[in-house]
Parts: sequence; C-alpha cells; structure tokens
Amino acid sequence: MKAFRIHRHGGPEVLDLEEMPRPEPGPGEVRVAVRACALNRLDLWVRNGIPGHTFPLPLIPGSEVAGDVEALGDGVQNIRPGDPTLVAPGLSCGHCDRCLGGEDMLCPRYGILGEHRDGGYAEYLAVPARNILPLPRGLSYVEAAALPLVFMTAWHMLVARARLQPLEDVLIHAAGSGVSSAGIQIARLLGAPRIIATAGSAEKLEKARALGATHLIDYRQTDFAKEVREITGGKGVEVVFDHVGGEVFERSLRALAWAGRIVFCGATAGAEARINLRAAFYKSVSLLGSTMGSMAELRHLLRFIEAGKLRPVVDRALPLEEAGEAQQALERREQFGKIVLTVGDPEVAGAPPAVEATE
Ligand SMILES: [Zn+2]
Repeated sequence: MKAFRIHRHGGPEVLDLEEMPRPEPGPGEVRVAVRACALNRLDLWVRNGIPGHTFPLPLIPGSEVAGDVEALGDGVQNIRPGDPTLVAPGLSCGHCDRCLGGEDMLCPRYGILGEHRDGGYAEYLAVPARNILPLPRGLSYVEAAALPLVFMTAWHMLVARARLQPLEDVLIHAAGSGVSSAGIQIARLLGAPRIIATAGSAEKLEKARALGATHLIDYRQTDFAKEVREITGGKGVEVVFDHVGGEVFERSLRALAWAGRIVFCGATAGAEARINLRAAFYKSVSLLGSTMGSMAELRHLLRFIEAGKLRPVVDRALPLEEAGEAQQALERREQFGKIVLTVGDPEVAGAPPAVEATE
C-alpha cells in the first residue's frame, strides 16, 4: 500500500509517500480501507517533533479516519468486511478503572491514532475492533472523517468540563480551527445566548456566524477582552473555550464573568501563561484542562450529527498524495474547519456509502 510514514522529524520534506505492506490485523483488530483522513494540528507536532517528547518513529500520522472494514483479525465479532466505518481516534486498555468508568481518555495507557500507533495517511490501517463505529447515516466519508477528534474534544470541554448552562455566555477562540467550529455549534445546541467568536479574518468570522456565533471579534483589530466586556454589558462570559494559550489565555481571564471557567485543550501559541492569582481567586474562576473525550461521549454526540443538529465543517478535500501541501495550508491557518485527505476515487470518498454498516 501507499503511505506517508515519518522516519525523522522536520518540515514538509520529511513526508514521503512510500510503498509498504498492508498492516495485518492482530487478534481483536480490524483492517480498514481508508477513504478519508482529516488533518489535525497534532499531525504537525508529530511531523515537527516536540523537544523532550519521543514519538514511536517510524510513524504514519492521521487521527481521524473514515473508510470500509476490509479484513478481521481473530476473535472479532459484530463487524463485517465491507462495513462503512468511522474510526474512533482514542486508544485505551479497555479494562482499567478509568476505561470501565467511562473515562477512557484518562486511561494510563491512553494513546491517539497517528500519534501512538500508525494512523490514516495511508491506504489501509489496522485498529482495535472497539474503535470501529458505524459511519453516521447520511454522511460522506469526507464529512465523517472531519468530526471524531474535534467534536469529541469540543463536547468534552463544554459539556463535561465547563458544564455550560443554558443561559451562560461563551467566548470561542480561533473560530477557524476544527475544534472551535465544533465548539460554536455545541454552544448553540446547549442554548448559549451569546456565542462570541474570535478569528483573524472577516471571511472566517462570517463562516463562524453561519455556524451559530452571535458576536464576532477580529482579534487582529481589537482587544478581545475589552470587546467581550462591552458585548456582555460589563459582565464577561461564563465560559472561555481556548486552545491558543499563551498571551491569549492571560487576557481571557479579563473576559471572564464572576465564577467563570476557562476550559482549554491546547496551547498552540505558547505553553506558558502568567495568571493574576488574586483576580482568579477573588472572582472564583476555574481553569479546566481538558483532553480528548470518552468513547461514550463520541457515540452520544454522533446522534446529534445524524439528526442534523451538529455538522462537520469541511474546508477542502485533497488527494492523499497532496498531504504535504495540505499540511502547509494548515500551518498557514488558511482553513475554516477541516482539511481532509481522500484515498482512492474522490467521488466515492465525497458521497455517502451505498451500504449501511452492521448495527
Ligand atoms: Zn484503561
């Protein structure tokens, strides 16, 4: 099969399409013929490397995959070859207290497809059978690939961690990212009266409005913290949704209402932030770290996808061979929503499958 496998860290030049054997599904595993694989910022970390962190090289990146079940390893039940599937991106042991308690993303052996084992920048991949979910009805492979990691992450942030209540206002940073395009929709679903979105262009802000943002802030033009206070009549927002970090995180404290919560799942602009502890305790604010989400949350939110209440946001679909160009577009932050790679016939990847998955 063809696959992009990373042998050493570096720029786009380390992404080389190579021929390699198809992965054999081990006991309890399934081989999937990949139709579509969405990009994540994680793919850039995997490619560039992170000082002090060791990735299991060589490694095929790609965390969000949709495709067709192709072969079954020993002992796999309830799944048939040919089943269209959305692959859950989280890998966990399945038998520790966390896993059995429905918090598999806190499993001591937790990993992510494309970071801890080979992912979807390939024609085939092998995954544990419990990661195989039926492709949501009515969605194309491209749309399905655009959702699992980002929607699960955004859902866990707003529902489980921040516990957003119906009349609470939300600030969503970096609306053009996949996780924020999901966050805006989930905030709308939960009934937030004010959903304030920030982005770095008028075009992205208009797209955020179409997803449900009620107020738009171009962070290059204005101080978002000041703007948020004006929009909310001095109150601030109850919840800030962040993955930018750094200086944005520091200023987000000033945009918070009393007893507000900052929920954050990343720190793309910087992992260090200075926090005024007096302001933080006096206002009773909470800083809530969040990572991924549980398998149960993913299955639950897929119902809202199938009901049309939440929808994956696809910026563009490109053939697998153009993974390097696709990553550069992501690095330049050109996209709104998800950039998706397609494998095989783009017509097939861009349409719902003809057959339904085994329930
Ligand atoms: Zn576990």
